[in-house]
Amino acid sequence: MKKIFQMKEPSQKEAGAQDGKALHIRKNDWLLIAVLLVAAAGIYVAIQYYQKVSTKNAVAVVTVDGVEYGRYPLSEDHTETIRFEDGSYNRFAIQDGYVSMPEASCPDQICVHHSRISRNKETIVCLPDKVVITIENGEDSGIDVLQH
Ligand SMILES: [Zn+2]
Repeated sequence: MKKIFQMKEPSQKEAGAQDGKALHIRKNDWLLIAVLLVAAAGIYVAIQYYQKVSTKNAVAVVTVDGVEYGRYPLSEDHTETIRFEDGSYNRFAIQDGYVSMPEASCPDQICVHHSRISRNKETIVCLPDKVVITIENGEDSGIDVLQH
């Protein structure tokens, strides 16, 4: 038993030393991977946070004939009717973070049929009434580029 033990011990030490060296390199590799993972996780969290914040701060900017009519946060449901002196009107609605124009007196009804908007720089335009609703500080999307 003693002989086996003695034989084992140096081999263990040798192996240990080798392992130690190898482990040292691996440790650095793992450290690098860990740092990269933490950095990636940090970036991911930052993006998530930024998107949440940007969605939270998104506003619908309503302009009439180039003049700002009002700013409405997408986080709050809101319905308002813009009325003009000649009797025409545009009713816009903010619901669930989306803006739409459910009703308008314009003859073309393009604004009414426009899909609801929520992303940065998306717009609903009513040409006859010169009403423009633009999303600001919203979430950017590459899909918008394809849509327009
Ligand atoms: Zn219209």
